[in-house]
Amino acid sequence: MMKRVLPPAAAAAVAAAVLYLYADRPAPAAQGPLPIPEMRFNDVKEIAPGVFFRYSSISAADPKIPFGGSNHTWVVFKDYVVVVDANFPKEAGDVIEAIRKTTDKPIRYVLDTHHHGDHAYGNAVWAKAGAKIVAHKNAARLLLVNGPKQWEEASKGKDAREDLQKTTLKQVDIPFDDRYVLDDGTQRVEFLHFGHSHTIGDAVAYLPKHKILCTGDACVNGAFNFMGHSNSASWIRCLEAMHKLDVDVICPGHGKPARKDLLMTEKRYFSELRAAVQKGIDEKKTLEEITAGLNFPWYKEWTGVEVAGPQMNKDSVKHVYLELQGKVDHDRLGWAPDPRPAAPPAAVARRD
Ligand SMILES: [Zn+2]
Repeated sequence: MMKRVLPPAAAAAVAAAVLYLYADRPAPAAQGPLPIPEMRFNDVKEIAPGVFFRYSSISAADPKIPFGGSNHTWVVFKDYVVVVDANFPKEAGDVIEAIRKTTDKPIRYVLDTHHHGDHAYGNAVWAKAGAKIVAHKNAARLLLVNGPKQWEEASKGKDAREDLQKTTLKQVDIPFDDRYVLDDGTQRVEFLHFGHSHTIGDAVAYLPKHKILCTGDACVNGAFNFMGHSNSASWIRCLEAMHKLDVDVICPGHGKPARKDLLMTEKRYFSELRAAVQKGIDEKKTLEEITAGLNFPWYKEWTGVEVAGPQMNKDSVKHVYLELQGKVDHDRLGWAPDPRPAAPPAAVARRD
């Protein structure tokens, strides 16, 4: 029998048919993105194998909702547990209790995503449970330089936190430069510093196997952006860099977990705020006039409050207003009282 040779067009049609048949079947390696869990306050959900997320209570619109501090993600490695954020001391205890319902492995590392109290004041509670505290070197330095005074202020007065009176400020055990990786073959967590964003010492936790990014306050889901220690121009660049990571799920420092586009929503807020404030400055408007004229309907849809509604948001407008006039010394931000000599020591050299 003569071997039949198909003309090129027919061969292409057969190839297309074969491709079509295979395309019809689910590819064994291709898994869809992780689902975003529905969560209520204090819920804990396993969002990927061995990765748990706890959603802490918070509301920018309802003062009756108690502030439960930062969200948490924990990752169960073969022999130990890694936790993102230390929270306040009382909440740290609550979270340890929640972790114990998911695993009895020792908690070995806790990342302070930055030096703020709702992310770092629980350090002593975690240390007592056997953990080492990890943070970017600038966060470690801020906690060392400013921590004791801020702790004292937060533990006194009418808004004093009682839990601070029952414990002490614990400093960072493992400060790192721009990257600190934990990998035991079963899980991998990369602590990464992208530059000055919410603070000069922000670190995020990237879980490449699960395409999860735990951002601390470098990205939040709602009107929870304290900008007073930020560099908003650098923050935008950091969000762009984070967006380049292979990520499906964002576990923010505050607010519900979300898809990757949350990073771009955050960026939009800072970009549009900067543009609107700059326009006001160009038109010789006062800060009060600029603040009163701000109207971002999409922001209200996202967060539930006006862009210049809560006091924290008004303060953010002021921060950007001062930044755009060159009145914020970003390198010194948050270090005050600055004990450093004129040139910062090499040990705290930074990238941004
Ligand atoms: Zn913060």
